[in-house]
Amino acid sequence: MDFELPEELNMLKDMAYKFAVNELGPMSQECDREEKYTPEIVKKAAENGLVGPWVPEEYGGAGAGMLGNCIITEQLSRVDMGIGLNIGAATFGCEAIYFYGTEEQKRQWITPVCEGKMISAGAYTEPDAGTDVAGYRTRAVKDGDDYVITGNKMFITNGSVCDFYVVQTITHPDEKRHNRFSQIIVPANTPGITRTKIHGKMGIRSSDTAEVSFEEVRVPQTNLLGAETKGFYQLMHFFDTTRPMVAAQGLGLSQGCLDHSVRYAKERQVFGAPLGSFQITLAKLTEMAIRIEALRGLVYKAALLIDEDRPDYTLAAMAKYLSGQTAVFCANLAVELHGGYGYIDEYPVQKFYRDAKILELYEGTKEAEIMTIGRYLLTR
Ligand SMILES: Cc1cc2nc3c(=O)[nH]c(=O)nc-3n(C[C@H](O)[C@H](O)[C@H](O)COP(=O)(O)OP(=O)(O)OC[C@H]3O[C@@H](n4cnc5c(N)ncnc54)[C@H](O)[C@@H]3O)c2cc1C
Repeated sequence: MDFELPEELNMLKDMAYKFAVNELGPMSQECDREEKYTPEIVKKAAENGLVGPWVPEEYGGAGAGMLGNCIITEQLSRVDMGIGLNIGAATFGCEAIYFYGTEEQKRQWITPVCEGKMISAGAYTEPDAGTDVAGYRTRAVKDGDDYVITGNKMFITNGSVCDFYVVQTITHPDEKRHNRFSQIIVPANTPGITRTKIHGKMGIRSSDTAEVSFEEVRVPQTNLLGAETKGFYQLMHFFDTTRPMVAAQGLGLSQGCLDHSVRYAKERQVFGAPLGSFQITLAKLTEMAIRIEALRGLVYKAALLIDEDRPDYTLAAMAKYLSGQTAVFCANLAVELHGGYGYIDEYPVQKFYRDAKILELYEGTKEAEIMTIGRYLLTR
């Protein structure tokens, strides 16, 4: 058992943090205020090997595994979790293509994303069903050599900017509840697709989120991902493997809160002394630091086990759950430590506070994580 990161991952970590400070930092406030998605930053990140770092080199990625992916996500989120998401989620959905796609599909869809030439999106959630993954209603009906897809997808990250979607559809309505689904790759320029950007998000406002409707959208049956009727299980596997990355977002955001808080505690004078010289301040910083370190252990372990081909998906759910809690906790304390200045956008902690909450909502709500972990405890 070795808790030290290998040298190459330490170098990756330093490089990703420098990229975040130099490239994400200067645009952070404007992108947040104006809900601005910036494709240029994704291209620049791709040039630096930061898009799809988990993708093996033969398909255009950096071959850094899930641990490398988490380390990069952590460092980007330490500066701006929303813009970091634009980079991290550029490959969203490609995980399923990597696991279940044909050789041709992998080269056609994953490689251009890693090169910064395309953006993907995973279109699963629907207006009437999110947590209830088996409750989705979008239909794909066979017609000749095609599928014809009709339905609505909600809250899709990259939904209005992506080049293709991995769509969860019902192809076998008469099968048992969980066996009705299949995943299909749908190019975004296919006739019948309407995408509507969602405005007014509380946080991660620089990321693109959209409602996407499919009205008799026709794609060849060769766009099927894996086997028919396996879509539900493929999606569960997708969530299991991407959870450590989402947990790494919360890890980075929490670390960012601590970074800003320590800096402010040294700078700010209260009652004629630095804020950091008061024990209540130390208690807050200490609580943050301990929770972050515990979270880091959980996230890295969950990621490493995936890389070592002995995944522990309950651990991944635990990491995701703790990540949301830690991020909300640290962001709250960071705002408190900044006093009134924490409440205005001269300091980034108010943005961290708004960004943090999504970690308890997307990629499985915290209640969904509790169900996953709880079921495991009762059945192991
Ligand atoms: C910014 C953003 C980005 C997103 N990106 C994507 C994306 O890229 N792709 C995608 O497909 N989706 C995406 N989502 C959707 C997200 O994953 C869902 O919003 C989430 O899964 C919750 O679904 P819901 O909103 O329908 O809530 P619901 O499922 O309606 O849940 C409402 C509440 O009920 C609780 N609940 C549900 N079932 C139970 C139960 N059995 N027991 C107790 N409590 C329960 C939930 O935990 C929640 O508190 C995104 C959402 C947002 C806000």
